[in-house]
Amino acid sequence: MEKGQKTAIITGASSGIGQATAKELASKGISVMLAARREERLQELKREIEESGGKAEYKVTDVTSAEEMEELANAAAEKFGAIHILVNNAGLMPLSYLNKKKTDEWNKMVDVNIKGVLNGIAAVLPYMEKQKHGHIVNISSVAGHVISPGSAVYSGTKFAVRAITEGLRKEIDPELNIRATIISPGAVATELTNTITDEDILNKFKGSNMKPLDSEDIARAIAYAVEQPEHVDVNEIIIRPTQQKG
Ligand code: NDP
Repeated sequence: MEKGQKTAIITGASSGIGQATAKELASKGISVMLAARREERLQELKREIEESGGKAEYKVTDVTSAEEMEELANAAAEKFGAIHILVNNAGLMPLSYLNKKKTDEWNKMVDVNIKGVLNGIAAVLPYMEKQKHGHIVNISSVAGHVISPGSAVYSGTKFAVRAITEGLRKEIDPELNIRATIISPGAVATELTNTITDEDILNKFKGSNMKPLDSEDIARAIAYAVEQPEHVDVNEIIIRPTQQKG
């Protein structure tokens, strides 16, 4: 690794916000370790980043496995020599009304959106404590601030991400120089809504003609947070489409 070069692990890098963040950070000279389950997408992204002059590696990882997340952190540390940044971005949003009792979807959201974030923190914290340096960026949501009919469980997971990030920030010994940032996007045009199976929710979405954000809009916010000088910890950024009021 070249002197001064930072490294970042990005989960959910195979699409949407994670993919855009990987490109944005790589374009700023940060070496990126890409993680998700869909290998072809990670391979393609690594190729694209390298063609643009960036540095990227990937590791197929399911964030719900604490073991796989540890292996991911070990691989990043081995490859790049240090882990400066973790972007805990992987997430699912199968919105549904509670009375539909889609309990499998509730469990999946808890596993990916909450336990996945915890697995990420557990995997990188020992490295960051040892280095006395690090930055953990957790992707929450406007749904981590605002609850709508159909978002009860998803919002619950995103409130949890905010609580965990703020708890982490407060617990970290100030001597350790580890920063914690919450990114809370409003509606972003990605594949996230593909996991919705509740027809009533899908019909509700059909009525909206709001212009959503692009993944790149969120990637720039993440880049802003991680590029600040070491004494500056951007605690949270909320970004809505201009037309989104709720
Ligand atoms: P996408 O569906 O495009 O991306 C989700 C990513 O998560 C994919 O790369 C997917 O990769 C990955 N993922 C899902 N499950 C797992 C798993 N078990 N292990 C590893 N990776 C997994 O959606 P977005 O880019 O929109 O979502 C990114 C984050 O942003 C999420 O946390 C979401 O909640 C949050 N967010 C999104 C908003 C939006 O409007 N789009 C608004 C607010 C927050 P793969 O399937 O290959 O594993």
